[in-house]
Amino acid sequence: MKVILDWDHTLFDTNHFKNDLAGALAIAGLPKRIFFETYQEAVRQKNGYYDYDYLKHLKIVGQRHHLSSKKIVRLKQKFLKVMNDGSRYLFPETVKFLKILKKSGARLILCTLGNKELQRQKIYSSGAQKYFSLILITSGSKHKIVRIFVEPKEKTYFLSDNIDELKKVAERFPFVKLILKKRPDKKEAGEEARRLRLASFTNLLRISRFLLEDSKK
Ligand SMILES: [Mg+2]
Repeated sequence: MKVILDWDHTLFDTNHFKNDLAGALAIAGLPKRIFFETYQEAVRQKNGYYDYDYLKHLKIVGQRHHLSSKKIVRLKQKFLKVMNDGSRYLFPETVKFLKILKKSGARLILCTLGNKELQRQKIYSSGAQKYFSLILITSGSKHKIVRIFVEPKEKTYFLSDNIDELKKVAERFPFVKLILKKRPDKKEAGEEARRLRLASFTNLLRISRFLLEDSKK
C-alpha cells in the first residue's frame, strides 16, 4: 500500500502553530490580531496556491507599527524559534499513526504545498521526516504529483484535510482511495465528504485502522 499524505492540518496542527507565531508579536507589544490581519499580505499567490513569506510579514508589521530594527530582530528570532519547534505542533496521535503505517509496510509519501523553506523547517524539526519514503514540497497542483506515484495495480490512498484537493484527485484517478481528515473548524468539508461518500475521520488513529483493514480487501 502507498499512502500520499498532506502535512498542514492533516499531520500538523497548523492552527496551533499560527497562533503561536501570532503570540510572538507580544514581545513587540502587539496583540495577536495584528498577525492575522496582515497575514494575507505576506502570502504570495502562485498559480492559485499559497506561499507564505514570514520575512515579508515581519517587514509589513514592522513598517505599519513603527517597530525599531532591534524589535524586528527579536521578533524574527521568536518566529524562528516557533518554526524550528515542529514536534510541538504535531497532532497528539501523529507519530503513533505514522509508526503503525510504517510498521505495516506501507510506503508513505508526504506531499505538501507552500513555502519550501518554512515547510522544510516545520517537517524536519518535528522529527516526523524519518517515517516518509519521500518528501515533496511543491508549489502547484497536487494531482499532477499524484500522477507520478499511482500505479493502478497498487492500492494507493490520498489523505488530506482539503476537500477540493481530494475532488481533483478523484476526477483524474478514480482508483485512488480518498480520505478526508476532518477539521473541527471546517465542518462543511465533512458534510461534502459525506455527500460524496468519501471516508472521513477526525482522528488519525481511526484513519490508520481504516487503512489497515481496507488495504486487505
Ligand atoms: Mg492541509
